[in-house]
Amino acid sequence: MKVGVLGGGQLARMLALAGLPLGVRCRFLDPSPRAVAGHIGELVVAPYDDVDGLRRLADGVDVVTFEFENVPASSIELLQRHVRVAPAPVALATGQDRVREKTLFGELGMATPKWRAAGSRDELHAAVAAVGAPCIAKTRRMGYDGKGQARLAAGADAAAVDAVWRDLGDPRNGGLIVEGFVAFDREVSVLAARSRTGAVACYPLVENVHDGGILRRSRAPAPGVPAAVEQRAHAFVRAAMERLDYVGVLAVELFLRGDELLANEMAPRVHNSGHWTIEGAACSQFENHLRAILGLPLGSTAMAGGGCATMVNLIGDLPERGALLELPGLHLHAYGKGLRPGRKVGHATVVGADRAAVDDLAAQAAALPPGDPAAWGFDG
Ligand code: AMP
Repeated sequence: MKVGVLGGGQLARMLALAGLPLGVRCRFLDPSPRAVAGHIGELVVAPYDDVDGLRRLADGVDVVTFEFENVPASSIELLQRHVRVAPAPVALATGQDRVREKTLFGELGMATPKWRAAGSRDELHAAVAAVGAPCIAKTRRMGYDGKGQARLAAGADAAAVDAVWRDLGDPRNGGLIVEGFVAFDREVSVLAARSRTGAVACYPLVENVHDGGILRRSRAPAPGVPAAVEQRAHAFVRAAMERLDYVGVLAVELFLRGDELLANEMAPRVHNSGHWTIEGAACSQFENHLRAILGLPLGSTAMAGGGCATMVNLIGDLPERGALLELPGLHLHAYGKGLRPGRKVGHATVVGADRAAVDDLAAQAAALPPGDPAAWGFDG
């Protein structure tokens, strides 16, 4: 079986790695000749809207999928003329636009931060007045890892609002959304896979820690979350998948305040907060995404490896290889990407039965000093 993947970064690469033992081969489309998925599969180098590149990606594959949601609509239309696409375009369109996401969440009866859309400077003033500061203005489209966001503190004046519009109001971002600032206790995410027959498998709820808008650490199952809260998150992701007739893995990020869940955003793809599933779950998010889109039975989403998993992202630089591998039981994933500040260049996962011991080892990995970049030899 063959799968085409739009995007050739680490998510595409981990999809391909999960496919190899199943006898599934992946082909990738990426504008960069150094895209790291190309280390392990055929890489078509072309822009994401290049007609010839899209045709070459689709040629002879069973299905095309995506490692990111900001796919041009025209590319999806073109692909659909040649090949099955999963998840469906409506899911990508929803995941591209924070206003569509929040509207869907509301329709499904899920609480969200208070929000208003703003398509002009005047509307931004009105939205900030309606939502109330402190609040966060985000671009409707194209934001990731905390980019395309600005915070407005309590008491922010008109000049501060004008400055936000100047910084973020570029029409290419599709306007802004203003969200009330949520004083959450914790951030969590829920990941699930839905197959072509409608079967759904949900992973245990994950606790996530972000810094500067970038995910730093995920712990699964999220410690100390009441079963009823997890059940609500699972019912919600299931309802979202059914509404979108979703096929593949879907991730939803939520805020937890007391026992209250507020939905923040969704990612219609495999997700960084699910990387722990490679070693920490019976079947990883990557394998389950492939199983789902290829019409194969889903694998078990139960915890494996002792019942606790902690993943830490390696951002900007990598420690010395030997220092990481000296940590007993640590699973290293270096993505083969060039080392640059703020870039996710790898992750490490620890699994085990003892929550404190697992966390301690993961914290040791995260605290290691940068190693010699030349020892990794990446230039991508
Ligand atoms: P996002 O790109 O929406 O995931 O935002 C990046 C990070 O900013 C989130 O993971 C939160 O830590 C924080 N954040 C986003 N929206 C809000 C909000 N409405 N209230 C408080 N914190 C937020």
